[in-house]
Amino acid sequence: MVLVYKLVRCSNCGLFQVTTSEKSLKCQKCQKSKVLSSLKIFYRTEDGRDAARKLSELKEEEAIKKEKFSMEFSHYTR
Ligand SMILES: [Zn+2]
Repeated sequence: MVLVYKLVRCSNCGLFQVTTSEKSLKCQKCQKSKVLSSLKIFYRTEDGRDAARKLSELKEEEAIKKEKFSMEFSHYTR
């Protein structure tokens, strides 16, 4: 049996994470269980290292977006 790594995002707390489960996701951060079919799958691969690399890319993009947003926000409130 081949494991498929799926990159999903918790719809409760927004944490990106990798799961090999087919049915549900238990969030690493908020511990909430989610039905996998209700979540958007950002990426899927059979290579665990590939999944880990993609996960760090997504987290990085997210961090950049947040930074941009807070910069714009402070610009408007100045
Ligand atoms: Zn969560």
